[in-house]
Amino acid sequence: MVFSLPLEMVVAAYDVPVVGLEIAESTVTLFGGLAVVVLIALSGFFSSSEIAMFNLPKHRLEGMVEDGTEGAALVKRLKDDPHRLLVTILVGNNIVNIAMSSIATAVLSIHFGGLLGVILATFGITAIVLLFGESVPKSYAVENTESWAIRISKPLKATEYFLFPLIVLFDYLTRQVNRLTGSTGAIESPYVTRDEIQEMIESGEREGVLEEEEHEMLTRIFRFNNTIVKEVMTPRLDMTAVPKDAAIDEAIETCIQSGHARIPVYEGSLDNVQGVVHIRDLVRDLNYGETEAEDLELTDLVQPTLHVPESKNIDELLTEMRENRMHMAIVIDEFGTTEGLVTVEDMIEEIVGEILKSGEEEPVEELDDRTVLVRGEVNIEDVNEALEIDLPEGEEFETIAGFIFNRAGRLVEEGEEITFDGVRITVETVENTRIMKARLHKLEAPEEPEEGDGENGNGVSLE
Ligand code: ADP
Repeated sequence: MVFSLPLEMVVAAYDVPVVGLEIAESTVTLFGGLAVVVLIALSGFFSSSEIAMFNLPKHRLEGMVEDGTEGAALVKRLKDDPHRLLVTILVGNNIVNIAMSSIATAVLSIHFGGLLGVILATFGITAIVLLFGESVPKSYAVENTESWAIRISKPLKATEYFLFPLIVLFDYLTRQVNRLTGSTGAIESPYVTRDEIQEMIESGEREGVLEEEEHEMLTRIFRFNNTIVKEVMTPRLDMTAVPKDAAIDEAIETCIQSGHARIPVYEGSLDNVQGVVHIRDLVRDLNYGETEAEDLELTDLVQPTLHVPESKNIDELLTEMRENRMHMAIVIDEFGTTEGLVTVEDMIEEIVGEILKSGEEEPVEELDDRTVLVRGEVNIEDVNEALEIDLPEGEEFETIAGFIFNRAGRLVEEGEEITFDGVRITVETVENTRIMKARLHKLEAPEEPEEGDGENGNGVSLE
């Protein structure tokens, strides 16, 4: 059987042997079939190249180049211009896919007629491309990213030369279209984002890859750079300090009584801290120093300290204190008033968890599943975590005492109660005006909010 045009163009394009204008149908089928097989292989090559090149993390590639892995340098050169690389792959892939479907349509039309040929070619080629041009090669590239990237880098470079005019044209056109659509055209995002790492930590713990302790520490590290000094400092009321005219003996005694090795030295009032003395220096100079004990003054032993605003981030402060070799900083508010002090330990605790001294009470004591007893200075965040509740964080108060005080809008007394969002908070201990301890109980079902801030028996119930 013979046939003539309209396959003339196909014949011309794919170099099918021509007998005048008449071509043997079997020859067209044979060459068409061969072309489809070759094009399928090329389609697979381009699809797998895309995965191998763009899935290869930068740091891995740099490591390979440093180790002198053969071919890695070429992979790096290709990846240095990711836009050009993607255009090369896409131009190549589209040419072969479209050529494949054109040939298949032409060949199938000979056998089955125009319409049926088109339908068969559409579904048949889609299935073949999906399977052998996409799925199989991509899966392979995912599993062998490094070796495959190296293997395809040379042919990919050759493609770039071979299709040079087309690639330059499409490179230009895609950049223009990106500009018009306002897209940055960034092809490679950072290979891992902060959110992704955090999600991995969460699923790591769920799936038992991480121990609970490890999970907590990693989570705290991520929180670390969002924490400000005010959240971790020891407040002014708890500061142990000495006036600068105190005798050395007195200063030593103060250290011993308070159990702290460093104490701030102030002139006049705590708002004017001059520096910090360490008990080691006090004892050494008193007992072994060259100056007579009577002539020795506290000011001779004062080391300078940092004054930092309460809103400073602790990651910055920790770096600064390490650079300056300081262990303690004085925290001041916007008016220059001393708010408290912060030591390296306060910041490290944010990562490793509370470091308690012997005899020191747990800041959060679990009484039962739904009840905790907490010290007033405990951060709301920690209480929320302990009880799995949702008291508001990040307002003008940091601690549970601050929260109670803020809700009540006045000084509170021992035994008073506040109900907020299904949590009953009972003030357990008050010293002078300060809330020292509170008990929090998660109610079975959130209580109906009551009107106003007024007294309700022995307490206030606010919403
Ligand atoms: P130390 O071991 O001397 O107490 P750390 O740096 O280990 O000092 O701090 C332990 C805790 O004691 C921290 O919470 C810190 O804020 C607090 N702290 C340290 N020195 C003082 C001080 N002079 N007055 C009040 N609190 C202090």
